[in-house]
Amino acid sequence: MVMLLTSHAACTKRYVYARMKMNNKVDTIKFSCFCPTCNSIVEHERVFDYQYNIDRKDDVSISGTSVVLGKCLNCNEPILQRDKFNHVDDHYWSDGFDQLYPIIEIEASKNAPKIVRGPYSEAIKCYRVQAYDACVIMCRKGIEAICIDKKLSNGNLFDKLKKLKDIGILSTEMYQWSDELRLLGNDGAHDHNEIVTKEDAKDSIDFFEALITYLYQLTIKYNNLKERRKGTKELK
Ligand SMILES: [Zn+2]
Repeated sequence: MVMLLTSHAACTKRYVYARMKMNNKVDTIKFSCFCPTCNSIVEHERVFDYQYNIDRKDDVSISGTSVVLGKCLNCNEPILQRDKFNHVDDHYWSDGFDQLYPIIEIEASKNAPKIVRGPYSEAIKCYRVQAYDACVIMCRKGIEAICIDKKLSNGNLFDKLKKLKDIGILSTEMYQWSDELRLLGNDGAHDHNEIVTKEDAKDSIDFFEALITYLYQLTIKYNNLKERRKGTKELK
């Protein structure tokens, strides 16, 4: 006896991703997608598929949302994806696709100005296609954008970062991280002998994300907290 993990007969051709047998043996369904841990497109095993918002228009048309839990067959790390699917007879297309886990872009980047968000997204795209030189150059461009956003335009990047530290926008540690990003970006852009590794590129993104989180999320949160506390104290 076979128990289908989907309720709809019309979608069995494309959407029966997993079938569970009574003897607990699971037929594995495989698919290829990007694994952030392996940093490449690799084969995944479909572990579970939950479908909801199912709309059956007629005998051959169905649409809905599918959340798929997958497992990378290279590193065994899990992945969770949501897909708004349409299925008509043998034709399938997607109206939108989100990666729910692991999150690729940090939440804080939504608060950052466009001038900073652009290089950040580009850096992640470069990392995903293993263009590590381009990735560190984009991170460097991102810290330049932070300087522009903070109204610093005179001098070179070294001077501008130092100024950000001197006026208290960057702490000493943040300044050191930013300066390291600047140097890594220089290697990526100008040095033909220096090899930018995958680890260098990943560290660049991590530090750039820490800067974005500090400047465009935690600072705003802290100011809001202070305002709230001030309001509460005035009421007492
Ligand atoms: Zn993997």
